[in-house]
Amino acid sequence: MSLCTLCPRSCSVDRSITAGRCGCTDEIKISRIMLHKWEEPCICTGAGSGAVFFCGCPLGCVYCQNSAISRKSANGAFEGEKSYSVTELAREFLHLQEKGACNIDLVSPTQYTPQIIEAVRLAKNEGLTLPIVWNTGGYETAENIRRLDGTVSVYLTDMKYRDSELSRALSNAPDYYDHAIASLLEMVRRVGKPVFEGDRLTKGVIVRHLVLPGCRHDSKAVLESLANAGLADSIVLSLMSQYTPDFFSGCTDEKLSRSMRRRVTSFEYDSIAALADSLGFAGYGQERSSAETKYTPTWGNFEY
Ligand code: SF4
Repeated sequence: MSLCTLCPRSCSVDRSITAGRCGCTDEIKISRIMLHKWEEPCICTGAGSGAVFFCGCPLGCVYCQNSAISRKSANGAFEGEKSYSVTELAREFLHLQEKGACNIDLVSPTQYTPQIIEAVRLAKNEGLTLPIVWNTGGYETAENIRRLDGTVSVYLTDMKYRDSELSRALSNAPDYYDHAIASLLEMVRRVGKPVFEGDRLTKGVIVRHLVLPGCRHDSKAVLESLANAGLADSIVLSLMSQYTPDFFSGCTDEKLSRSMRRRVTSFEYDSIAALADSLGFAGYGQERSSAETKYTPTWGNFEY
């Protein structure tokens, strides 16, 4: 892979030689493969989703719950990392299918797009029939989404921020919204409105929005922008309250840091949930009790 421009960071580095800002060379690294029961109900039916947690991330949010695998530690490695070839990855997809997974849930996959497309192709040739879920932080280019045509049938994407100063302070990405909305519109264009087989989503787009403490006005702006883009009846909305301050570090905005050191309040979450209803979104809410670190998987485990 040369001159990587897979995500909006557009590092233009040769990843066969060096890592980009996502922390990844072209060697596939994974920290956990599991049958996952804690995703949205429509993507973890039966034995659960077949979750593959990739190492590295184009974003690097200062509150990342998976920071142990999204960023390298001082020893230059991701926690629990294991290298996979494309063929080995394809075999894991087939093994997850044998174990009863209801889909292949690719978590933080963007930086490995070409290798994943090839692994899915190989696995399909060997009998993989499960829907492929692209579980992304939303910091994608529309071009990368076009690349995934014919590979991905379900997008599970974040829409984190509307305000560029907020996305700069919390994810060092002032251009987050512009890229996230353009890629979301491309996702909807590609896979269309949600399609279910029984309880299982087999095609469509789920948009996750995490309500952050002290950022209610931005959550409001996010939902209004989605509604203004005509997306209320084209997506499943997953409104999340699981922010936990345990992982918060490295933010230089003092005022923001003060509010980010607490959990979201019932008032903050409920007012955004009421707005989502009034704008016509359908989907999922979340219990505030889910804001606990116990819901973060342990890393370096490949048995399932
Ligand atoms: S995927 Fe990684 S190397 Fe490629 S542009 Fe994004 S951050 Fe840079």
